[in-house]
Amino acid sequence: MPLLIQGGRLITATDDYQADIYCQGETISRIEPAIDPKTLPPGTEVVDAAGKYVFPGFIDPHVHIYLPFMGTYAADDYASASKAALAGGTTTLIEMICPGPTDDPFEAFELWRSKAAGLAAVDYTFHMSVVRFEEHVREQFRKIVASGVASFKVFLAYKGALNLSDEHLFAAMKLAKELGVIVTAHCENADAIDALQRALLAAGRTGPEWHGPSRPPTVEADGVHHLCTFAELLGTHVYTVHTSCDAAVREALAARYRGVNVWIESVIPHFLLDETYAERPGFEGAKYVMSPPLRAKANQEVLWNGVKSRAISTIATDHAPFSFRGQKDMGKDAFTKIPNGIPSVQERVDLVHTYGVSMERMSLHTMVDACSTQAARLFGLYPRKGAIRLGSDADLVVYDPAYRGTFGKKGSYSKVDYNAYEGWERLGRPSAVTVRGAIQVKDGEFVGTIGRGQFLAREATH
Ligand SMILES: [Zn+2]
Repeated sequence: MPLLIQGGRLITATDDYQADIYCQGETISRIEPAIDPKTLPPGTEVVDAAGKYVFPGFIDPHVHIYLPFMGTYAADDYASASKAALAGGTTTLIEMICPGPTDDPFEAFELWRSKAAGLAAVDYTFHMSVVRFEEHVREQFRKIVASGVASFKVFLAYKGALNLSDEHLFAAMKLAKELGVIVTAHCENADAIDALQRALLAAGRTGPEWHGPSRPPTVEADGVHHLCTFAELLGTHVYTVHTSCDAAVREALAARYRGVNVWIESVIPHFLLDETYAERPGFEGAKYVMSPPLRAKANQEVLWNGVKSRAISTIATDHAPFSFRGQKDMGKDAFTKIPNGIPSVQERVDLVHTYGVSMERMSLHTMVDACSTQAARLFGLYPRKGAIRLGSDADLVVYDPAYRGTFGKKGSYSKVDYNAYEGWERLGRPSAVTVRGAIQVKDGEFVGTIGRGQFLAREATH
């Protein structure tokens, strides 16, 4: 059905103006000061955007949906994660494919695709994790890139599970450079964490409050430094995921100053939740266990200022949903067994609007840039996504800045049984969300079609 979005204030990473948008089919066909509905085909759906913002659909470049991890599976599937993303204004997800160390990479790619096909209501693509890199899997990674997955993920953390040896890391980054593929990286020194974890557990320090001390900021800064050293030697373009603290940001910026092509992602929990959440009594701290861990509060200002100055390119979530009962409590006796993750895919954009824009920590343009446009540019989706332009996909968010409510489990589409932001004040919400011209959300309710989401094949551009 053709769609007219009327009377909105269009806000992109660079522009701010009043206009109507007409979409015929799946893309934006007209952007004009005033489009008379009487001149449009009968049956055109009209969305009144008076008094509202119109943003390009938001992109979350770091989520986990299908995830076998730490002896369990993440709680969401593509249907629940899509609904949650869309209700929060996110129209494109980039999911991490995380195979086990002995899994065949191409089979993993096909498995992850099969989990999304038929259930996704957002458009989606993947970062391909390289958890081993022997000679015989090299061709498979070429094939995966040729199939439209133009980014790798590597783990410097999770010793014995996901982390790569230096030999394999160097070889994988060399291939990435050759193919023009950007390497996203979880930067924490796996061996240091392993030793610290053992020492803490041996001393009887088993609660969730010890997760943070087992992976201090220096461990993350060391990981960033290490990644950037290899990037400097090889010329590979790299992207540090969930960069959480001052020390790690400084390492990335120092590398950038030396000429390394490094981009920085931070994730919404680190902007708003500090280490005291993980210290909550009665094991409640387990809800707030993720890696890198929640940090001392002073780091939050560094992250907000990093976004404002555009030193930090993107705000993602690292959505990794594990319920408190039946999953997080697997770590009752040892914090090392608490599945990691603070789910936020539905809350991200409204949190940035409430605690970023409304508190004058960033402009609306910066919010759009950090939550949409930069991810599109870095990962080969621009200007199909991340822009309001003629010919771009009609992924649009009509946003009501005057809405007042709270965050919480009620109204959340994620299957996880808690909400990390329960009861927090919420200023603004998406009142209509479209994916390729079809309305998927109205006033916070999913009204769309499960299975409408498409795999986005991307070209290697780095
Ligand atoms: Zn992650």
